[in-house]
Amino acid sequence: MAGTAVLERVTWRVAKVVAVHDETATARTLALAVRDWPGQVAGQHVDVRLTAPDGYSAVRSYSIASAPNSDGYIEITVERLPNGEVSPYLTQEVMIGDELELRGPIGGWFVWRNDQMEPIQLVAGGSGIVPLMAMIRSHRSAGSSAPFRLLYSVREPETVFYRDELRALSNQGDAAVITFAYTRVTPKDWPRAPSRIDAELIASGTWPPALRPTSYVCGPTLFVENATDLLIAAGHDREKIRTERFGATGERK
Ligand SMILES: Cc1cc2nc3c(=O)[nH]c(=O)nc-3n(C[C@H](O)[C@H](O)[C@H](O)COP(=O)(O)OP(=O)(O)OC[C@H]3O[C@@H](n4cnc5c(N)ncnc54)[C@H](O)[C@@H]3O)c2cc1C
Repeated sequence: MAGTAVLERVTWRVAKVVAVHDETATARTLALAVRDWPGQVAGQHVDVRLTAPDGYSAVRSYSIASAPNSDGYIEITVERLPNGEVSPYLTQEVMIGDELELRGPIGGWFVWRNDQMEPIQLVAGGSGIVPLMAMIRSHRSAGSSAPFRLLYSVREPETVFYRDELRALSNQGDAAVITFAYTRVTPKDWPRAPSRIDAELIASGTWPPALRPTSYVCGPTLFVENATDLLIAAGHDREKIRTERFGATGERK
């Protein structure tokens, strides 16, 4: 249905903010009711357009965090960049009842469909967790038995998105195997010193290549490139690694 996909990429829709929720000190989830929303697949994103009274407009992409459903509501989670143009507005200024413009859903490659039965390896850096969370939620709501595993790299424990939900999932045994990696500060008594993802962590925190998982890697460009190189060096097939880059060249200090 190429025609439908093109239409979704070009049609701007009105989205009303119906709830806001702080994930961390710098990240906020917005629940949006979208007029004529066509539905989405886990992993897709939307473009959000903000227009100032003088007509100046800015467009940024945001992954959909919520699981696919047909009720016309979606959630996005935005990490605030201190000097950013759009993210400070979405995380600090927007209020319930405000309207935004968005188009989408966009993307046909970085998606997980619930008829995929192979093992799935998710690798997230920072806000790169957002589309992967949609996959985890879709996996759960579809009752899928595909083995899911998440390696989630964050600066420190306070910067984990969806903390309670991930904790509950990791306590449910098979629902998803979750490994956290901390780059700056670890929880007390954590067995590993703060560090970036490396070969050792890939070996202990991801499915073995022999299982032939499909991997989804998302985060800042440098993170995605590093994690992908490590997966390939560990023996994973490049063809089975799907990536999504959130734009910047590295993690912000
Ligand atoms: C497909 C896709 C999906 C995305 N999904 C999400 C999402 O779910 N949540 C989310 O928070 N962001 C997401 N992003 C990033 C988002 O589109 C914006 O780039 C981000 O919000 C910054 O916009 P801004 O206007 O605040 O900053 P800008 O004014 O565009 O940039 C300000 C400065 O920050 C740098 N910068 C831009 N992006 C980043 C970044 N991601 N990390 C660090 N520095 C950056 C720029 O180089 C610039 O120096 C996604 C990007 C893509 C391409």
